[in-house]
Amino acid sequence: MRTAYFDNASTTPVDTRVIDKMQSCLSTDGTFGNPASTTHSFGWMASEEVEWSRDVVADCIGADPREIVWTSGATESDNLAIRGTVEAMRESTGRTKIITMESEHKAVIDTCSHLDDIDVVVLKPRPSGLVCLDTLAKILDENTLLVSIMLVNNETGVVQPIQKISRLAHEVDAFVHSDLAQAMGKLPWTVDQLEIDLGSLSAHKVHGPKGIGALYVRRGRCQVAEQQHGGKHERGMRSGTLPSHQIVGMAEAYRLVNQEGHSEIQRLNQIRDQIEATLGNLGGIQINGKRGVPHILNFTVDGVDAERLMAAMPQIAVSTGSACNSATIEPSHVLKAMGLSRQQGLSSIRVSTGRMTTGNDVTILLDSLRHAISQLRSAA
Ligand SMILES: *Cc1c(COP(=O)(O)O)cnc(C)c1O
Repeated sequence: MRTAYFDNASTTPVDTRVIDKMQSCLSTDGTFGNPASTTHSFGWMASEEVEWSRDVVADCIGADPREIVWTSGATESDNLAIRGTVEAMRESTGRTKIITMESEHKAVIDTCSHLDDIDVVVLKPRPSGLVCLDTLAKILDENTLLVSIMLVNNETGVVQPIQKISRLAHEVDAFVHSDLAQAMGKLPWTVDQLEIDLGSLSAHKVHGPKGIGALYVRRGRCQVAEQQHGGKHERGMRSGTLPSHQIVGMAEAYRLVNQEGHSEIQRLNQIRDQIEATLGNLGGIQINGKRGVPHILNFTVDGVDAERLMAAMPQIAVSTGSACNSATIEPSHVLKAMGLSRQQGLSSIRVSTGRMTTGNDVTILLDSLRHAISQLRSAA
């Protein structure tokens, strides 16, 4: 029996239209050249594809093409934004403080915790998952170099008020970075509406290939120091031969998601409503976090262990957000930060939908949840 895939927040299948576009940059009859080769047409053609892609991605987020730096994904973009800003701006500004949140992706939290001589303030979210703006305002000061808070949380789908955060941070002239990996195509925004200085993007969360992403770097505002040295590609911010097939794949994926926009949001919202209605009828289930994006739903099933629930639904691919640390299973750090107990965390599941999610998939999911939960509850 086919497994119904409800783990689109971890990754998505590549759209066939994206695959076609990528193939054109791989073979001898296509544009396989090195985009940095300036002495022949193979290089020029590859470079044209890369710059077309830069225009597309910039356009999708309301940026200037010169503000896009290609990276290997949102993890690298987060690292480059944080480490690069500290390295480039610490001395000239004399600032040594970074503010972030406990509910951030590990690519942000762990990068911050590896910085030398930087005072990292990690804010606790409210039980809703939202930042407390009053606390943020109190902690922001003339020593704050950077605020890094994501737009959409990858475990709960909670949407942070980034524009308000940016305005508060800019009052003390701090830079603002936001991890945007889960935000593309799931709610309307541009970098100007968010008023951010830096933003991390990834292709594989929106039916593009893995291993490619970008960092948005606002022009005339901030500099980031390159974190890997080499041929000084990407205006000196990120060295390495540009993977043209990956880059066109990201651009095509972004173009498609932008084009489908509103109707896809509506479709995923309907699916979400349907799932929430079923969970409501089952009883003893809490939705975690304030309702945010359409494609992510995180819930706690009272008295049911999430690992056992997943084992009872082998035909469903979902995730728990829990991490296995050596022998023990640790509940999600995001849910813990929101105040869930250890047991509640270990009884929580994330369902995430995407372009390939069908009505039939949803029926299988809901039938499986109903059946498995009542079975586990009656056995308890
Ligand atoms: C998936 C994800 C990442 C990591 O992105 P990669 O491109 O896989 O490195 C970072 N942040 C968030 C919020 C994500 O969802």
